[in-house]
Amino acid sequence: MSRYWSSITRQLTPYVPGEQPKLADLIKLNTNENPYGPSPRVLEALHAEVGDGLRLYPDPNCDALKTVIAGQYGMAAENVFVGNGSDEILAHVFLALLKHDLPVLLPDISYSFYPVYCGLYDIAYTAVPLDADFRICVDDYLQPNGGIVFPNPNAPTGCPLALSEIERLLQANPDSVVVIDEAYVDFGAESAVGLIARYPQLLVVHTLSKSRGLAGLRVGFALGSPELIAGLTRVKDSFNSYPLDKLAQTGAIAAIRDSAYFDATCRQIVRSREKLVADVSRLGFVVLPSAANFIFARHPRFEGERLAALLRERHIIVRHFRQPQRIAPFLRITVGTDAQCQALADALAEIVYMPPKSIVASGTPSC
Ligand SMILES: *Cc1c(COP(=O)(O)O)cnc(C)c1O
Repeated sequence: MSRYWSSITRQLTPYVPGEQPKLADLIKLNTNENPYGPSPRVLEALHAEVGDGLRLYPDPNCDALKTVIAGQYGMAAENVFVGNGSDEILAHVFLALLKHDLPVLLPDISYSFYPVYCGLYDIAYTAVPLDADFRICVDDYLQPNGGIVFPNPNAPTGCPLALSEIERLLQANPDSVVVIDEAYVDFGAESAVGLIARYPQLLVVHTLSKSRGLAGLRVGFALGSPELIAGLTRVKDSFNSYPLDKLAQTGAIAAIRDSAYFDATCRQIVRSREKLVADVSRLGFVVLPSAANFIFARHPRFEGERLAALLRERHIIVRHFRQPQRIAPFLRITVGTDAQCQALADALAEIVYMPPKSIVASGTPSC
């Protein structure tokens, strides 16, 4: 606390991002990055963009990028909003579209940035509990609200919600905005993008950080009716005229265009996920059904925090959430390459089959 801080700053509870370790020899399965990285075409495009042109400001409206995204999803450029990562888009969404008198509805177990934005913008929200199977239950959202937001598939559970359920929610909720955060949709869930033409209150948010392997470039986009996009643009133009620099715009265009690389890497990650689920299930882990590039798993005999620490001793980092209590036994594990997944499964086997005493001691067997 500092006496120089504003009262809003004093009251904030900032989001805590997953660790970005400085050590090189770690197997990093904690922040859902893509092990294959961006398409080689992206790297070529970025190299070509580095030059004297950086003297000039980038296009503030990102018209070329919006046109390429619109083409990819069969929409018009006026249906597209782009931002400096989807986190920035979500921040604008909360201020532009979700700040009303009634509370925003969001799942109690979900992306923990949503409540942070509510705190930043002083927006009331209601945390709606997931059901006993950690699923979003649409019936629980059929109540008066100032907006609805959740990821599909949900994070950190990985569980997908059927498109028919999302449509049922939209039909029952015509008067406030429904935001579907599709950060992980490319790994197997059904996208709601096809519903946008019929539901002007629907906003679908995507990121290039996961399925396009570009977390370091910071690009996200949202698709929705022109009236929603215009609202977001008003906030963006009152905040930062140039959220996407020239490299980000150029790299994102090349990434969206290379659908062959995108399809191949997504398919490979789905294959690796299925093998990983089978491998850890054999070790006694309970794994929630995942349609994402991560799995959410617990072992009946181990605390989540302990497991994460034992993995770290073996140079593997995964994500553990202490709160809410219901998910404290779980680990969220990013699907890496097959070699990384194998190293993880081997480390978990060593931990699970180790005599209990030696685990408590140091993680290495003693005589
Ligand atoms: C990773 C993630 C984001 C943020 O993605 P960026 O585009 O990197 O800011 C948004 N929502 C969910 C659910 C995520 O997991």
